[in-house]
Amino acid sequence: MTSIKAFHQLSIDNPDVFWAEEAKLIDWHKPFTKTLDFSRPPFAKWFVGGETNLCYNAVDRHAAKRPNDRAMVFISTETDTEIVYSFAELKQEVMRMAAAMQSLGVGQGDRVLIYMPMIPEATFAMLACARIGAIHSVVFGGFASGSLATRIDDATPKLIVSADAGMRGGKAVPYKHLLDDAITLAKHKPAKVLMVDRGLDKEFQKIAGRDVDYATLRTQFMDTEVPVTWLESSEPSYILYTSGTTGKPKGVQRDTGGYAVALAASMKHIYCGGVGETMFSTSDIGWVVGHSYIVYGPLIAGMCTIMYEGTPLRPDPGIWWQIVEKYKVNVMFSAPTAARVLKKHDTAYMHKYDLSSLKHLFLAGEPLDQPTHEWIMGELKLPVIDNYWQTETGWPILAAMPGIEKTEIRFGTPSFPVYGYDLRIFREDGTVCDADEKGIVGIVPPLPPGCLSTVWGDDERFVSTYFSLFREPQVYSSFDWGIKDKDGYHYILGRTDDVINVAGHRLGTREIEEAIQGHPAIAEVAVVGVADQLKGQMPMAFAVVKDAASIATPEKRLALEKAVLKQVDDSLGAIARPSRVHFLTVLPKTRSGKLLRRSIQALAEGRDPGDLTTIEDPAALEQLQQALGFKAPS
Ligand code: AMP
Repeated sequence: MTSIKAFHQLSIDNPDVFWAEEAKLIDWHKPFTKTLDFSRPPFAKWFVGGETNLCYNAVDRHAAKRPNDRAMVFISTETDTEIVYSFAELKQEVMRMAAAMQSLGVGQGDRVLIYMPMIPEATFAMLACARIGAIHSVVFGGFASGSLATRIDDATPKLIVSADAGMRGGKAVPYKHLLDDAITLAKHKPAKVLMVDRGLDKEFQKIAGRDVDYATLRTQFMDTEVPVTWLESSEPSYILYTSGTTGKPKGVQRDTGGYAVALAASMKHIYCGGVGETMFSTSDIGWVVGHSYIVYGPLIAGMCTIMYEGTPLRPDPGIWWQIVEKYKVNVMFSAPTAARVLKKHDTAYMHKYDLSSLKHLFLAGEPLDQPTHEWIMGELKLPVIDNYWQTETGWPILAAMPGIEKTEIRFGTPSFPVYGYDLRIFREDGTVCDADEKGIVGIVPPLPPGCLSTVWGDDERFVSTYFSLFREPQVYSSFDWGIKDKDGYHYILGRTDDVINVAGHRLGTREIEEAIQGHPAIAEVAVVGVADQLKGQMPMAFAVVKDAASIATPEKRLALEKAVLKQVDDSLGAIARPSRVHFLTVLPKTRSGKLLRRSIQALAEGRDPGDLTTIEDPAALEQLQQALGFKAPS
């Protein structure tokens, strides 16, 4: 067995040899002629000239050898449904969906926006796009019309696939009216909307000529064979939007061959999942974890994937462990927030079930605090592996890699740089930090296979956003602070930008500010992330009203706060809702007009606000402190 150090070193010293070997983990229709083309840095093209297909690797190749083996188990504790799909059945369902899409005019390179709850048809739709070379863009179902409209305009989809409603905590969450509103708001109007009617929203209205019922269309294609469209490795497979420092989300564009190889390699070396085993990722298909480790990763590895609609607490906090026992789950993937939620409940729920099939639990998406890490590892008595990555990379940057070498797991650290990533901690002048010195987590390009190939439709933005940390050297910025200790373990210390992380979900404070600014009573607003015990961070808003009369009485304040929160719900979705909206008459700014975000955040967290000598109006600070309850209003 090689060491992770040697493995990593080989991947950096000789990426061609390293990745050509890993590329054998997937099936190629046509072999590649060159492993890496890095002639136009920072753009990297992997497996040049090779032709493959994500759906073929995830479904067909297993269906051919093991048609009756389990490919996907759909479990909804919301609708009390459990459906098991074999690889043959999954292939058939994907072909039905693909044929339906083709009948609506979708072809190679066309975008298909998927706005769906966690139902099997969402997975079929993603795989169907991959099969026919269409580019999917899944938008998380918790996002509302404003967010959706921005993404529709950027991706300009030919088709949108959606459903009447999702279910959460026993309640139907209607989707269709949000989608209709989003299409009204958007400049781009998709020609067709393919609707899965779950019968959950009795009031949903079909728009004649545009909306098509999937159940009806599907019956026309029950036995249709839809051949795989072979794609050159660099052809885009999907776009996934993520928040940044501007109000406009970035479309992370993923390739085909590089992504397939990266996922296959990660399943082997990091997640240790193999043919015939079962993986349960508790994320949502709207997030990158859902793309990589609910849909593509486990299926490419020939595993059965569990697709779960529901919360970790219903019908009781033992539900996830019950699923592990019933389906003999070998690999589980979740987020630290979920672990913190479970920690608040009786551990008897965990110990009631036979968890002996489980080899590892992986947690990612946000910092895993030491007490939670220690607690869950102690309870489960198995390695709980913190892994650090981003929507942009598509798979882990830092992790323990038990498939290569079993290294000591230390609490509060996602361990070591993963093979393929030439990761260093940089000082702000571009030099490399010493051990134990805080700096910016950067990656020296080329980025390994699977990472974003560009920002959809905007190569310039790809370079200017991610590769402009220093003039020299050209480095990918993760926008995270980090430290590498003397033993090589890495610690992530939070974002360098205005992005916040709520329960593992990335939110841009600017997007929330823009939504609030849309309210007619608000003149100006600042949103900051404030530490939260359960969710890691929560947004908190500080707003200046246009007319003081609108907050003249406590009742008026409360009513306006409610109205502002609703504004966020309607535009972005409840996921972005601030914990509070505090009203001020002026925001703390520097004399040059720059918002003192870090100071606002520090005060909201009860910390020292730092150097405030540049503040323009000291009264702003007093008001802020008053609003936060530091001083009684005079
Ligand atoms: P997203 O693109 O939504 O997955 O968010 C990526 C960001 O989440 C990273 O840039 C980090 O700030 C944070 N993050 C993800 N995983 C971890 C982790 N294991 N430890 C600390 N922060 C993490």
